[in-house]
Amino acid sequence: MFLGDGMSVPTLAAARTLRGQRAGAAGEEAQLAFEAFPTVGLAKTYCVDSQIADSACTSTAYLCGAKANLGTLGVSAAVPRYDCAAAADTQHQLDSIAVWALEDGRDAGIVTTTRVTHASPAGAYSRSADRDWESDAGVRAAGHDPHTCPDIAHQLVHSYPGTHFKVILGGGRREFLPVDAVDEDGAPGLRADGRDLIREWRADKAARNLTHQYVWNRNRLLAAAADPPDYLLGLFEGSHMRYHLQADPIADPTLAEMTEAAIRALDRNDRGFFLFVEGGRIDHAHHENRVELALDETVELSAAVQRAVELLDEEDSLIVVTSDHAHVMAFSGYTRRGGDVLGPSDDVGDDGVPYMTLSYANGPGHRPSQGDRRQDVTADPDFRSVEWRSHAEVPLQSETHGGEDVAVFARGPRHALFAGLYEQSRLPHLMACAAGLSRAPALCRD
Ligand SMILES: [Zn+2]
Repeated sequence: MFLGDGMSVPTLAAARTLRGQRAGAAGEEAQLAFEAFPTVGLAKTYCVDSQIADSACTSTAYLCGAKANLGTLGVSAAVPRYDCAAAADTQHQLDSIAVWALEDGRDAGIVTTTRVTHASPAGAYSRSADRDWESDAGVRAAGHDPHTCPDIAHQLVHSYPGTHFKVILGGGRREFLPVDAVDEDGAPGLRADGRDLIREWRADKAARNLTHQYVWNRNRLLAAAADPPDYLLGLFEGSHMRYHLQADPIADPTLAEMTEAAIRALDRNDRGFFLFVEGGRIDHAHHENRVELALDETVELSAAVQRAVELLDEEDSLIVVTSDHAHVMAFSGYTRRGGDVLGPSDDVGDDGVPYMTLSYANGPGHRPSQGDRRQDVTADPDFRSVEWRSHAEVPLQSETHGGEDVAVFARGPRHALFAGLYEQSRLPHLMACAAGLSRAPALCRD
């Protein structure tokens, strides 16, 4: 399963156009790798208590198969956000499709460009009343006891199913290291309990007599992928991995490289595997109104899917690509065919001022009007640099998610199950059907 965090339908259209234009074509006719898949559906993303979703309640929906409250992970809607006691009640805890796969003797793993403890991947292994309880410092700051409500990093290293994930790749070393320690890049840890969970992860595998490796840069990942150990942990940044356009190509693996390493490790199990791969920073770039970064991260997700398509046989491997929620980027105006998708519209506003083809309904890119005229953003000194923000209607420190449906693309066994318009929480049940998991709903077994 591939997830583009915040990969709205307009993001797809704009990213494919950018991809085509980078290749010297008009662009609109280009395709992202997964847009060639035979089945497309739409998923409704709202959460139990929220019209517009966040990445935690959606992760609970598309990985655990039940809608939940905003900000909560791996627990039912009986758990209000921040309610540690309710989340600690095992009756309220959900199992993700990674658990369902492990129960059937298959393997499981996660890959992300965010911290591995961030909301989307955490839905695969954690149960938490708040997505921000990534280290024990977060749990303590909320006034709770980490013994009652273990933090998300602790759950990944010490609780099932995280203990059984064969591959864990992404960012987020700081959630695993104590405040008085520094990581390989000299960045400090966040943990208040003094524990080094990277060391504890290794000790757990050693105690279970499993071959294992911890890698922290691209070279070590590529070397490990050539002959994978039983268990592979890769943490490539203190926090999130860098945006692809701002990454160090020597030190930082791409999402496609991490995906290939994960597939090579997991594909050794004859019974199969469940792998979750997230392009997690499409969302962050949109929140910042940095549209070129958001589209580039989408193109990178496409490259990762393409790598999976090349490595996995369509006859026996289901690939599902979707998003958790939309964003409020608009793709607007009447620009001619082939017009620069990152440029201004061919039109100007009624005030005579240019506007961008890609702009936002809200966010930090808001510029106050000067009298009756909007600001001409094309005159900004840093116009079109990757960190330039497109314009936004409503001033907000962080651009918001959108409430519309997201697309679902499927290829492989029983891909047609994914057609139609349905609740996002249906996705893992459909994947379980296609994979023939014993936890699949009875109706789909034939
Ligand atoms: Zn977001």
